[in-house]
Amino acid sequence: MDPFEDTLRRLREAFHTGRTRSAEFRAAQLRGLGHFLQENKQLLHDALAQDLHKSAFESELSEVAISQGEITLALRNLRAWMKDERVPKNLATQLDSAFIRKEPFGLVLIIAPWNYPLNLTLVPLVGALAAALSLRCPAGNCVVLKPSEISKSIEKVLAEVLPRYLDESCFAVVLGGPQETGQLLEHRFDYIFFTGSPRVGKIVMTAAAKHLTPVTLELGGKNPCYVDDNCDPQTVANRVAWFRYFNAGQTCVAPDYVLCSPEMQERLLPALQSTITRFYGDDPQSSPNLGRIINQKQFQRLRALLGCGHVAIGGQSDESDRYIAPTVLVDVQETEQVMQEEIFGPILPIVNVRSVDEAIEFINRREKPLALYAFSNSSQVVKRVLTQTSSGGFCGNDGFMHMTLASLPFGGVGASGIGRYHGKFSFDTFSHHRACLLRRPGMEKLNAPRYPPHSPRRLRV
Ligand code: NAD
Repeated sequence: MDPFEDTLRRLREAFHTGRTRSAEFRAAQLRGLGHFLQENKQLLHDALAQDLHKSAFESELSEVAISQGEITLALRNLRAWMKDERVPKNLATQLDSAFIRKEPFGLVLIIAPWNYPLNLTLVPLVGALAAALSLRCPAGNCVVLKPSEISKSIEKVLAEVLPRYLDESCFAVVLGGPQETGQLLEHRFDYIFFTGSPRVGKIVMTAAAKHLTPVTLELGGKNPCYVDDNCDPQTVANRVAWFRYFNAGQTCVAPDYVLCSPEMQERLLPALQSTITRFYGDDPQSSPNLGRIINQKQFQRLRALLGCGHVAIGGQSDESDRYIAPTVLVDVQETEQVMQEEIFGPILPIVNVRSVDEAIEFINRREKPLALYAFSNSSQVVKRVLTQTSSGGFCGNDGFMHMTLASLPFGGVGASGIGRYHGKFSFDTFSHHRACLLRRPGMEKLNAPRYPPHSPRRLRV
């Protein structure tokens, strides 16, 4: 018995009837999403607090407001985004009409992770729904949403409350862990949007390949953060600590490790200590502003990483509370586990390099990261790191902030992912770009030169 068959058949049928075709219908879905966020704000904050001990500030900033911003942007710009895009023509097509039409793919599957369980579910959903808003489309995308089974409280809200705000003919939430998702992936979809680990990304891409289904893979990895000797250590400490310990470090674009000279490390450590105390107090475990590790499995994995190098700051943990203190590790070897896997927790190793060249060489020896950060008072140094490396995104003299701009594409490169989204990039991701040329039926004489029989004279240049 296949638990997904009926749901998928219902959505496919809706797609083929064209019931979902009107702009009004689609705009109503986006507005419904907005109402879901506004009317259930407290419920969502409570669920995020239960799952990850997120503070109301973190929940609002990184989950609700970002999703709401994407909805507003899509509703405001849809008419412009969905217009046919006129393109330049060659001599033979001067009298014709050439354009790119954005069409929805059909049945879309969105698979989400647990670390920003609302944002990473709703922001792709906005793109999938928006991409169908063209009046000219035969039908809009229908969406199957698979939230993470690990962030249980948000999963419950998405399964029980969100469907009340959307038309069930074009939308369904399905639940399950690895086994059920594997079963779901055996079905044919027209597009799969996956956010999660590179390991599962490969499973998703392999399943998609069986049906030649296109995919976006938003994956993770180790994000380097280079700190130049000329930086003000306190400024660097504020910015690095903020985005390393945000959501207890469970952020795909958080800096995974710092690369700096031993001299900069000496100056950075007291600055980091003072920042951590200012942010979370003398006892970070009692701070309402510090998140918790999502589950025991992740907690045990992270606790083992505390044994790498030497603990310079923090290092405490409490299993009963899934608490790990904001931690900085020094004397870390490249071969140690903490430098072999994505940390995804409140642990920041510092690796010493002697120069920016050595940092660039270190970065380029590894998989291309999702994000790369470089701090320096010299714009030349920042630009050098930018130019001589590759990553999904880059931010000079800060972290994370590049992804607050919906005008920038968000996505990885190489092992950190395939594809991009946010803002108009989401609309484009969930749209097939159809190449269209409308020719005139008359003036056939103009076509005569391309028809056989060919005379050798015509090939002369
Ligand atoms: P994950 O890959 O374990 O799970 C993601 C989703 O895949 C979940 O919905 C899960 O149910 C499903 N899944 C798990 N195992 C599966 C299997 N064997 N077959 C089919 N489906 C399966 O990732 P996670 O632990 O939820 O999230 C952490 C990872 O996600 C990190 O690597 C992080 O960097 C990455 N991430 C990336 C982004 C991004 O935007 N690039 C954002 C957040 C998280």
